[in-house]
Amino acid sequence: MRITKKWETVIGLEVHVQLKTETKLFCSCPNKFGAEPNAHVCPGCAGMPGALPVLNARAVELAVRAGLALNCRINLESVFARKSYFYPDLPAGFQTSQLEPPICAAGSFEGIRINRIHLEDDAGKCVHAGNGETLVDLNRAGTPLIEIVTEPDFRSPAQAAEFMRRLRYLLVYMGVTDANMEEGGMRCDVNVSLRPSGSEAYGTRTELKNLNSFNNIEDAAECEAERHREVLEAGGVLVQETRQFDPENGITRALRSKEEATDYRYFPNPDLPAVRISREFVEAVAAAMPEQPEARAKRYLDDLGLHQEEVAILAASAELGDYFEAALALQNSPKRLAGLILGELLPECNRRGLGIAEVTGKAGHAGQGEPVAPVFTAERLAHTAAVIESGKVSLKVAHELFADLLDSGEALEKLAEQRGLLQVSDSSALEGAVLEAIAANPEEAAAYRGGKSKLLSFFVGQVMRRTKGAGNPALINELLKKHLQ
Ligand code: ADP
Ligand code: MG
Ligand code: ZN
Repeated sequence: MRITKKWETVIGLEVHVQLKTETKLFCSCPNKFGAEPNAHVCPGCAGMPGALPVLNARAVELAVRAGLALNCRINLESVFARKSYFYPDLPAGFQTSQLEPPICAAGSFEGIRINRIHLEDDAGKCVHAGNGETLVDLNRAGTPLIEIVTEPDFRSPAQAAEFMRRLRYLLVYMGVTDANMEEGGMRCDVNVSLRPSGSEAYGTRTELKNLNSFNNIEDAAECEAERHREVLEAGGVLVQETRQFDPENGITRALRSKEEATDYRYFPNPDLPAVRISREFVEAVAAAMPEQPEARAKRYLDDLGLHQEEVAILAASAELGDYFEAALALQNSPKRLAGLILGELLPECNRRGLGIAEVTGKAGHAGQGEPVAPVFTAERLAHTAAVIESGKVSLKVAHELFADLLDSGEALEKLAEQRGLLQVSDSSALEGAVLEAIAANPEEAAAYRGGKSKLLSFFVGQVMRRTKGAGNPALINELLKKHLQ
């Protein structure tokens, strides 16, 4: 008789995240993806003996920011160690990483405990040329990473993949990383083990290296858990080892047996003093952090009375939320501002293939493209909202003029005036158009008088056409009712 046990899957993640800095971790080479091979290399990041490292303060700041976002303890003193490897794309023969103590420890996010976050530099890349040759590109060598290590708290592959999605969203929102998955900006090692349901002790784990898509994380863990189950149910023994996922064939392959910390011959890097930061520094980093997305969303819903759909977009990016709030500080019309951003500005950005930062002039800050001139600053957004609120220009005209507003850099009322589209709120000026509309549509007028009151909106449309959308709708309604009686 075959006994089938129920197994529980246990997963822990080691997530590598590229930090959004201008320069590399220990030298002043640019931290940029996509340059000619070996264009961004100096003796330091090429691992030349004798070249001395200088720690990038911005990387420390971003690591602390990540630590605070993930509710970690920030260690005021942490130490860089040399972690020895032999790889062709690691000419120094060691990675500079942190063992004990790391810069951040003991955090939690989405119910998962974070064991530690440490700073380290990335290796270069081997490029297989296809003719049997392998080339080395050191542009990536020395770029700053944080490694986020979770406790083995996940109980399914789907849960681990969902965590990664949320983690990526948070860290991008917090400005820690651009985390472009295709460019390897965020990649993770997935540790998998099985244990009999109800058991406390962990089973033997294997580690799947370098997964860089959410789907791959889930599929790889799924596939590895299945392999564990087969081995265990056949009465076999698992070896702790490092494996590679082959998504094409849906299998994992052994790469090497698992090394222990001692195999790396970790020792404090003699070229780098301990990283010492002050309480004040940590407090300053905390103060400069964008508000967490959930807190912002709640404030928009509860205090500003915006709709869920509006909040979902405005609070989803720190950039957009900051822009909205800068305008709100100048013109207290949350609904109107949200309407202009969602209804006019974002669609116009989409049509033009521009990021919001380029149009609002915050591109430098966001690190995207150059701002387009003239920019639509928060001041201009606030002014546009104020002009509509005051009734000087109708919403309809504002909509029609919006593209010109972006192109010209002119104020809305100026554009409307130039084109004779200022909202007409003077009844004697509108009366002519109202009488004309009635005279031109005698049958509809008779039907309205006979009780078809729905026709009022037809007449409003007729008058609007005659005033090119510049008539004050409330006043037109009033005048129509009077003259149709
Ligand atoms: P290393 O892989 O460098 O030896 P650790 O021993 O700190 O590092 O463990 C790394 C990862 O393995 C962590 O994410 C941890 O959650 C995970 N892990 C540890 N034990 C297990 C286990 N039994 N099953 C699944 N994951 C595990
Ligand atoms: Mg590991
Ligand atoms: Zn360099």
